[in-house]
Amino acid sequence: MRIPRVYLDHPLDPQTELRLPQGPARHLTQVLRLGPGDGLACFNGDGRDRAAQVAAVGRAGVVLAIGAAGAVEPAPVLRIVLGLGISRGERMDYAIQKAVELGVAGLWPLFTERSMVQLQGERLQRRLEHWRGVSIGACEQSGRRRLPALADALPLAEWLAAAAPGTLLLDPRAPQALAQWAPPGPEVTLLVGPEGGLSPRELDLAHRHGVVGVRLGPRILRAETAPLAAIAVLQALWGDLRD
Ligand code: SAM
Repeated sequence: MRIPRVYLDHPLDPQTELRLPQGPARHLTQVLRLGPGDGLACFNGDGRDRAAQVAAVGRAGVVLAIGAAGAVEPAPVLRIVLGLGISRGERMDYAIQKAVELGVAGLWPLFTERSMVQLQGERLQRRLEHWRGVSIGACEQSGRRRLPALADALPLAEWLAAAAPGTLLLDPRAPQALAQWAPPGPEVTLLVGPEGGLSPRELDLAHRHGVVGVRLGPRILRAETAPLAAIAVLQALWGDLRD
């Protein structure tokens, strides 16, 4: 049987007991259906898994006995950061989930002229929390022991002003293919437009900030497909899909 693996936002010192707050306690007993004596793996994003066992389930909550720590997750061979034009709900969820599975190190949701979603104030905070949950779920499933950084959403122009030199813009009309691009250093930043693409003004601004356009073959990919294809190409050529 597969041992469940859960993220816990707590210190996980080996050989200690941890009383879980209501949310994670409910998840363990009602969703994963764990009871006293059942084993699980848990992680808090510090790079190591811990073996754990359900020590008690009762009125006072769920208590876990935290066991030995596993091996530390190695640093990524190629650190990939993704600037993602904000698209409609399920497209963003899909892009974030798959980008995390494929090993992205950092994610920036970006407001663009053609982002169809109006998010601000409390709604924006709720959506950021939701995206964080999607990212954590992908870490739990894929065995990642460090959480990728999920930045606050920014307007594209603000993000471009601070963009790393050599940032790559995924652009179906770019003269150069991603796979022909010179091998990157240890880090690469990718920018992807939302479902309607970037506006001519935004493309011009990106180029004025030194962003380099690269294309992914002859077809127009959906906003949630393009980042995944690009991350897979980068990981296969220069990252951890070579292993
Ligand atoms: N009508 C838009 C256009 O022509 O730009 C289509 C936008 S596409 C659905 C969403 C985003 O995916 C684009 O802004 C671009 O960043 C990326 N994209 C889609 N297909 C691509 C390709 N073949 N090469 C590079 N980037 C691509």
